[in-house]
Amino acid sequence: MEDSRYQKLHRHFLIIMLAVTALIILLFVLQYYMLISVDAKYIEITREHYLKSYVLIPGGIFLAAYIVVWQMLDSPNIAAQWKDFATILYVWTLCTVGCFVCVETPVLFGSFAVPIALSTVYGRRWMVRATEGLCLVTVAQYVGTAPLFPTCGENIVVDVVIGMSLLILCCICNEILMEYVMENNGVILSHVSDNTRLEMRLQREPMTGLYNHTAFYEYLDTFVRNRGEAPLTLAVVDIDDFKKVNDTYGHNNGDEVILNLARVLQKWCGEKNYVCRYGGEEFSVIFPNVKVKEAASMMNRALEEFRETEYEWLDGRITFSCGIFQMSSYTMTAEEFFRVADKMLYNAKHNGKNQCVSG
Ligand code: GH3
Ligand code: MG
Ligand code: MG
Repeated sequence: MEDSRYQKLHRHFLIIMLAVTALIILLFVLQYYMLISVDAKYIEITREHYLKSYVLIPGGIFLAAYIVVWQMLDSPNIAAQWKDFATILYVWTLCTVGCFVCVETPVLFGSFAVPIALSTVYGRRWMVRATEGLCLVTVAQYVGTAPLFPTCGENIVVDVVIGMSLLILCCICNEILMEYVMENNGVILSHVSDNTRLEMRLQREPMTGLYNHTAFYEYLDTFVRNRGEAPLTLAVVDIDDFKKVNDTYGHNNGDEVILNLARVLQKWCGEKNYVCRYGGEEFSVIFPNVKVKEAASMMNRALEEFRETEYEWLDGRITFSCGIFQMSSYTMTAEEFFRVADKMLYNAKHNGKNQCVSG
């Protein structure tokens, strides 16, 4: 999932959970002011005790857990799966605190179904197992200590049996669901990797592995159409007197030069730009969000390294010429954009080759 969408999902989820928590606390506060107990169990409790046990302590724990999880989601150093697990732990905290604060056993045991179901949504087996284990241990702990609480009902055994049955049923349903999710994920992932491989093969030129002519025009067209305020720069490169290199040293050595230029361009133009083999000894680089000055500086460094490369069979130096142009008009098409950059390349050739001309 794309990172921003993923973050948004988590945030929406946390906002909903915060709203639920706030609502529960608000109900307790209202009840405190009215002190009309919905449940006869509360009658024995003093106002101070009620305020502390039902409002301040659970409210404080919810708030602290919320802040911790919110910070974790913001951190770029935490892996996505731990962020997922943090949201599960947050829901588990709500259930656990709720469980120990209000003794409505069947309902509260049932509430643990939420973190368990959430772990299935995230689709990781270890997370499901960890969540199920955590919830079952919490419930067992509750069963062991509940009779110590003053609010514990008389029919705790019946409550526990109903609550436990609900929870175990939830775990079983979850296991079945998990199998289904894993199977589906497997099928989807294998389709995705097949498509990605096919797409890679269609876009790349086999000799250098760079984007081919078709991919170049597709990307250029996309960037030109979707351009906002950001700069868009294009460089067109052509090896100087390459025919002579082929004629003098042979086609195989010529290929070595082409491979070297592909390497140099990739090295200096960075990962964010699109290096393409436009034609035989002609290359192009699309620079999205890069101004002409910055692109010219990258291309000059590439020219320097390419020019300085020593080939054991070569007597002399091989250079290239380059035209660089930053898109200036909003009404320009991709073809017009390319034509202007190509005109700059022509100027570089005309001025004596072995140089970059930009405009
Ligand atoms: P200019 O400086 O004006 O660009 O001169 P040039 O000799 O480079 O220009 P020209 O277009 O006449 O020659 C390009 C040569 O590139 C012709 C072609 O055989 C060669 N070529 C194209 N693709 C390949 C390839 O993949 N390998 C090799 N070895 N040569 C190639
Ligand atoms: Mg040429
Ligand atoms: Mg040439």
